[in-house]
Amino acid sequence: MAELEKLQMYIDGERVDAASGETFESLNPYTGKAWATVPRGGAEEADRAVAVAKRALTSGDWPALTATQRGHLLRRLGDLIAENAQRLAEVEVQDNGKLMAEMGMQLGYIPQWFYYFGGLADKIEGAVLPIDKPDTFTYTRHEPLGVVAMITPWNSPILLLAWKLAPALAAGNTVVVKPSEFTSASTLAFADLVEQAGIPRGVFNVVTGYGAEIGEALVSHDDVAKVAFTGGAQSGAHVYQTAAAGLKKVSLELGGKSPNIVFADCDMENAVKGAISGIFAATGQTCIAGSRLLVQESIHNEFVDKLVAFAKTAQMGDPMSADTQVGPVTTIPQYEKILGYMDVARDDGAECVLGGTKAERPECGDGWFVEPTIYTGVNNSMRIAQEEVFGPVLSVIPFKDDDEAVEIANDVIYGLASGVWTSSIRRAMEIPKRIQAGTVWVNTYRAVSYVAPFGGYKRSGLGRESGQDAIFEYLQTKTVWVSTATEVPDPFVLR
Ligand code: NAD
Repeated sequence: MAELEKLQMYIDGERVDAASGETFESLNPYTGKAWATVPRGGAEEADRAVAVAKRALTSGDWPALTATQRGHLLRRLGDLIAENAQRLAEVEVQDNGKLMAEMGMQLGYIPQWFYYFGGLADKIEGAVLPIDKPDTFTYTRHEPLGVVAMITPWNSPILLLAWKLAPALAAGNTVVVKPSEFTSASTLAFADLVEQAGIPRGVFNVVTGYGAEIGEALVSHDDVAKVAFTGGAQSGAHVYQTAAAGLKKVSLELGGKSPNIVFADCDMENAVKGAISGIFAATGQTCIAGSRLLVQESIHNEFVDKLVAFAKTAQMGDPMSADTQVGPVTTIPQYEKILGYMDVARDDGAECVLGGTKAERPECGDGWFVEPTIYTGVNNSMRIAQEEVFGPVLSVIPFKDDDEAVEIANDVIYGLASGVWTSSIRRAMEIPKRIQAGTVWVNTYRAVSYVAPFGGYKRSGLGRESGQDAIFEYLQTKTVWVSTATEVPDPFVLR
């Protein structure tokens, strides 16, 4: 048996094991076999990493940099990501099962977050206030929050880290990242690039281990000023409660059950591709999956026939291969969860028109694959329509008119994303206003950008990532009052 690669945490610019010496294995979802060991960090490593990040905030090279110099470092990091994209992609495909094609696109694009926020670093301006008191000069400064704990999920580790890291560093914070225990490797490899970019040691640290252990220790740590979390709704609510005890700032990017609404007046070929991209891209393991396909009754049957025909052509297999379109599920618990939902859908009376089982095609080897799955006859109150499956499982729900489409679209606890397919300019402008979601795509799906704010309504989260405002998620405002009066007035009254 091939020897397992030994991964190490990254604290204060050094590669370290857990003090306990404990590790766990990371598995390759395509082969089903372990390929690396990961340190099982706990409270001791959380303490150490936070202490290092706290020190780096106020001493050493980082606080001495001008905002322009911080921006240069971020842009250099962006260049290094672009230069090392292939290596990082290979690590991710091996550890996560993400498609090489998807990783190539993501890693070609991720540098933009570092260029954009690097450019923004020296444009964070305070204001001189037109204060209503004589002999007083009053101004505001936007200052970093302090140590930011970043907790990321397994589905897109580097992209979701970039969304947090670029604005946090541009704002001058220091960082401790804990990637998912299922996919720690890419974030650990990314640390090499942070070091090569010349970002001072201690500013960026990576610890590894389980959410309930080192994750919990970070969230409850007294010296962590903010928790930036992406993950499931249940863990997010728990993180929010834990952070509340220390009155920490929190941003949460959580789950979704996004409606992708197809009106009868749509361009059908495009809408079919939009539905496919919404649920089968990234094997449906995305928070923005368009997992509820709402189709207007008059075109329902024709649309489903075209959708099934297209979905049948999806190539499954080795995620390293450029031809593969649907890869394995990333984790065993997730694989079991998806298969469990297939039982739920059947028991609830949904009609399976495609898939509905694990995939046992020869090209899937020993990997954790499930067949692209489509259910029709779904009622929006069924569990398969209300709960996040996080896999390639689509629920098709018919609707009569605009009002019913909006009503069904909004009838979930989530509000992350949504899609609208129509050729009517009236619908294209009016329906987005009525949908309770942080993102509405019209005649497209699954588009993101460093320029465009992203985040959830309702239980899909708190705060926004990307776009100019995202930097204020990592800043706090200080007001400075300077008196130019020659005499302090009556000390017993409010000035
Ligand atoms: P998860 O909630 O199980 O884990 C996410 C991270 O939180 C992991 O690093 C985990 O170790 C950590 N964690 C778990 N419990 C913790 C605790 N008590 N304290 C501190 N940390 C803890 O989620 P997952 O299964 O890794 O990811 C899938 C979920 O993420 C889905 O629900 C998906 O919708 C969501 N997601 C959301 C977005 C978004 O931007 N809105 C993006 C991607 C994924």
